[in-house]
Amino acid sequence: MTYDVTYIMGAISRRYSQFFIPTLKEIPAEAELISHQLMLRAGMIRKLAAGIYNYLPFGLIALKKVEGIVREEMDRAGAIEVLLPGVQPGDLWMESGRWDYYGPELLRFRDRHNRESCLGPTHEEVITDLVRREIHSYKQLPINLYQIQTKFRDEIRPRFGVMRAREFTMKDAYSFDIDEGGANRSYERMYVAYEAIFRRCGLKFRAVEADTGPIGGSFSHEFMVLANSGEDEIVSCQNCNYASNLEKAEVVVRQCDSKCTEREKELQVVDTPEIKTVDEVTKFLSIGPEKLVKTLIYQTEHGPVAALVRGDHELNETKLRNVLNVQELAMADPETVSDVTGAPMGFAGAIGLEVRKVADLALKEMKNMVMGANEKDRHILNVNEGRDFQVEKYADLRMITPSDPCPRCGGELRFGKGIEVGHIFKLGTKYSKALNANFLDRSGRETPIIMGCYGIGIERIVAAAIEQSHDENGIVFPVSISPFEVMILALELHEARVRKVAEDLYHNLSDLGMGVFLDDRDERPGFKFKDADLLGIPVRVTVSLRTLKKDSVEIKLRPKPDLRLMPVDKAPKAIKEVVQGLYDSLK
Ligand code: ATP
Ligand code: MG
Repeated sequence: MTYDVTYIMGAISRRYSQFFIPTLKEIPAEAELISHQLMLRAGMIRKLAAGIYNYLPFGLIALKKVEGIVREEMDRAGAIEVLLPGVQPGDLWMESGRWDYYGPELLRFRDRHNRESCLGPTHEEVITDLVRREIHSYKQLPINLYQIQTKFRDEIRPRFGVMRAREFTMKDAYSFDIDEGGANRSYERMYVAYEAIFRRCGLKFRAVEADTGPIGGSFSHEFMVLANSGEDEIVSCQNCNYASNLEKAEVVVRQCDSKCTEREKELQVVDTPEIKTVDEVTKFLSIGPEKLVKTLIYQTEHGPVAALVRGDHELNETKLRNVLNVQELAMADPETVSDVTGAPMGFAGAIGLEVRKVADLALKEMKNMVMGANEKDRHILNVNEGRDFQVEKYADLRMITPSDPCPRCGGELRFGKGIEVGHIFKLGTKYSKALNANFLDRSGRETPIIMGCYGIGIERIVAAAIEQSHDENGIVFPVSISPFEVMILALELHEARVRKVAEDLYHNLSDLGMGVFLDDRDERPGFKFKDADLLGIPVRVTVSLRTLKKDSVEIKLRPKPDLRLMPVDKAPKAIKEVVQGLYDSLK
């Protein structure tokens, strides 16, 4: 597919003197992340309240560019655009069961008639309601409906500017299919469209396997922009194409080694005064942490549970939640721990515990474990599962570590950070069953529709692109999402020739389909060059007395140092080629 520059939506041209870009010289103290600093400094956004932003023109055009790319790829993939409301009736959320479960991120209120309402953080309920009313037959399926719309999530810690806001723009798509095969094809089509979107936005990204979280469903992928400042941890294989969100990464248990053949020894209680942590216990008893078992007490909606992991391993709460099949999971408070174990925190062990017990797979291989004795200041040695206590089940419960092999091919894993820009889920029939969204199949049988849902954060793409592409002087926009493709700096504006060449170029480039930003302000050159670097428009063209002496203009790519002189009459075509070349590099 070729993307001609004239094909890109919304190429607009503006003059600096008649525009509104309140740039900042200083680094704003409130902003920690470089993308946040640069978006404030380049006059793209201004904060109104915690996690709520005004989008100023320079930022808004970048968002519109991203929306344009997203829209083109969604349309190309066969999805159909709709627009659903931001305010949603609470009834629908009660019907789906999420009213109680979604938590405080869902901003709830009552309208004047005292009806429960909320601001939509996502639209599964609303779209499923629409579809159950309008779609009744297999002949109307499959269908994929999407929107680009404002979401509200009352995030506990809004931060990093628009990267984690409370009000933000999401593209959310929902697919409806008659069978698994169709649902898988819809998912695959979105996966491919997402790859195209992020590639065209100039991002370095990776699709990783992910947990389905509160949206629910059977499997999902997150699209992660690779950046050290990312909040998400990802693992990827150096050898095959396995990549996963850290919390989802599977741990394969290596074959049983010598420990399994160890003889079971007799239980022995030892005094461990004030010795509680893994470090303290292993030092005190002169054992390796792989001999120790941590007994972690958690609270769930069905009461307390105990999770057992090896001393040198870290419990993965997402895995535990899935294994227990619970929705609420939190470390138990000291009171609950003492109720359950009969001892203060730090001395929990599996023997005699009368709660659900699940153990990490690594414990299956362990003999003669050391654990808390459920008695203050005491531990117990030579504990063996089967003989001394029983677990309900063994499961993969721990976080993967750099020394674990790739679960697919055994290769070496690489750990890194990412920013989640998109997330696709295969939902199955979770919402269609809850809301009775059925269709009549070929034999006239009523069957629940199979759904998928697919989200992209529009602001987050812009912020992540800047996070990935900037230098010490400012933003370096990928051409496709830059508010303008070309910036013209006209230096000595009082000179008629400079003004005329700059104006002509402005019109010619615009006529060729490019978005042009003409700096026609009566300011010193140094000042203008600094602003041009900060704004990060990828192609800079300078018109000055000096360049016109050679009947030329000067072309420079942000951030490369090379300057190229181009005769005035050849400039429009040459600049278009440069811009086209930048687009071609994003294919
Ligand atoms: P996160 O784990 O970062 O909170 P999420 O898993 O809650 O994200 P989804 O529900 O999958 O996100 O939403 C789809 C997309 O919306 C995300 O991939 C992200 O790009 C964007 N998004 C989610 N929350 C926010 C937010 N608070 N601010 C800006 N964009 C967001
Ligand atoms: Mg979230």
